[in-house]
Amino acid sequence: MAEWDVLVVGAGSNGLVLAGELAARGVRVLALEARLEAGGLLTTEECSVHGYWHNMLGGLFNAFEATPPYRLLDLGRENARYRVPPVQAALPLRDGRAVIFTTDVEATCCSLASLSARDAQTYRALCAGTLAAARGSPADAAYAPPPGAADGVLPFAGALPAELRRYAALSPRQVAAELFESPQVQAAALQQLVVPWGILPDYAGMGAALLLALAGTIPLAVALGGAHVTAQALIRALVRRGGRYQVLKPVRRILVEDGAAVGVALADGSEIHARAVVSSGGLAQTLLDLVGPDALAPELAARVRGFQLDEHALFGVHLALARAPDYLLADRRTAARAPSPGQGPHNLPLAGDALRVFIGGETPEELDVLWRDVRAGALPEPRGMTVIVPSLFDGRQAPRGHHTAVLLQPAPYAPGGSADAWDDVREEYAARCVAAWRQYAQNLSDADILACVPLTPKDVAVRYANLTRAALGMGRMTADQAGANRPLPALADYRTPIRGLYLCGTCMYPGPGWLGAAGHNAAQVVMQDLASA
Ligand SMILES: Cc1cc2nc3c(=O)[nH]c(=O)nc-3n(C[C@H](O)[C@H](O)[C@H](O)COP(=O)(O)OP(=O)(O)OC[C@H]3O[C@@H](n4cnc5c(N)ncnc54)[C@H](O)[C@@H]3O)c2cc1C
Repeated sequence: MAEWDVLVVGAGSNGLVLAGELAARGVRVLALEARLEAGGLLTTEECSVHGYWHNMLGGLFNAFEATPPYRLLDLGRENARYRVPPVQAALPLRDGRAVIFTTDVEATCCSLASLSARDAQTYRALCAGTLAAARGSPADAAYAPPPGAADGVLPFAGALPAELRRYAALSPRQVAAELFESPQVQAAALQQLVVPWGILPDYAGMGAALLLALAGTIPLAVALGGAHVTAQALIRALVRRGGRYQVLKPVRRILVEDGAAVGVALADGSEIHARAVVSSGGLAQTLLDLVGPDALAPELAARVRGFQLDEHALFGVHLALARAPDYLLADRRTAARAPSPGQGPHNLPLAGDALRVFIGGETPEELDVLWRDVRAGALPEPRGMTVIVPSLFDGRQAPRGHHTAVLLQPAPYAPGGSADAWDDVREEYAARCVAAWRQYAQNLSDADILACVPLTPKDVAVRYANLTRAALGMGRMTADQAGANRPLPALADYRTPIRGLYLCGTCMYPGPGWLGAAGHNAAQVVMQDLASA
């Protein structure tokens, strides 16, 4: 009899959720992690100055406390906690105004009205009417198998009211243009989809994502104590339930006998046997590299090769700051123009309080230039940047009164055709990103910036070997690769044609931005199959 029921390749968030949920049901499960620490991209490091903790890869979470894995693994007991900031997103403008989205509809309307009274009305009508019904449902739908093809490709599809369904066929850019007259409001809406969902403005068939993001149906959170606290909570939950994990165990091959997965071979040549193997690696990595194309039907191997990775990577700049960035100029001017009775400045959200602040890319046309450059492999002028300052919402991440910030700039993985090009430009490009940011955060002096640590797409791909081309979603979030099409229609139920081999990474539904959802969904399928074997 095999020593283990299930081996999990990779102990990131998806692998750990899956392993923990299986262990909770009495399955003998072992997660194998290549790196020194488990947690995958849930890393928080003191990479700049002592006392400043940086979430190396973003650190925006869906409200995880409301999800099934959180409840099933009792992660509250393990100290995994999140905070949803009321001001969710802001686009400060060069002219001093700002577009701000909050969890409060009227506060958002107050901000939008400073750009366009009509857009504020549109937004109010969207939220008050039809979209109100969709609140909460995307999270439920993400932690469940993909919707049927008729229901669209995003995790809420069934909840979208009939009168809004036509938007699902459009691109986010088309939806933004139909809804709003202000180009700035359009741009602020579009930028919300890039981090963490990886959806670009012109992706046809992804328009409904814009509606849900706009209506606040997917509020984003920071993890208290930093992203790695979630990794530690998942590890404790796994071990407490009898599951096990081992680090420094890179899996080199998935062993297949008579069409069934029977275990793995590690880099040191040793083998571990099990009844089933679940991979949180990428699609091509799992099926072409770890299994090998000979074990696949030629047509499937070709489709796996045709699976498209994300078109962009993120260039990160981690900063230790002696003070919080302030966009007060923008806030003051917006306040001065705040219109309508009952929506005075007291109601006005502040850009500096936002979880995500978008820098540059003030109109859809400016964003077009960004994406044109990225697609051409050119280093873009910094714009369309997402800035997160988690220490604003969690004092544990920096010394009192000080802050950590990350600037995430969309960029090509291989500028000019080579990822090595990053080695020559990393410092200079980081300085350009910081300078672009400071055009808006004008209160920051040179002395306020205590340290600046770039993390290039090449660094990401080297540090996290499974992140081929530093692809955030490990698969482009286009309609033909989302929902029941993710990664391919034939593999959308987390099973592969190799019996006992499953996929649970971000290349699976629902894709990036949903903590542990693919792991949770795959766990249900593995349990079903183990029970019926
Ligand atoms: C720059 C950047 C910023 C991001 N920002 C956000 C954000 O703000 N919010 C958000 O929700 N998402 C964000 N994402 C995406 C998010 O990080 C991923 O969706 C998420 O980490 C996926 O979890 P996972 O468990 O599938 O994969 P991972 O976290 O990558 O974990 C996979 C694990 O498997 C291990 N592994 C892989 N292959 C092997 C092998 N052969 N043998 C053994 N171990 C192996 C890896 O070492 C890794 O630990 C970001 C991604 C990037 C690149």
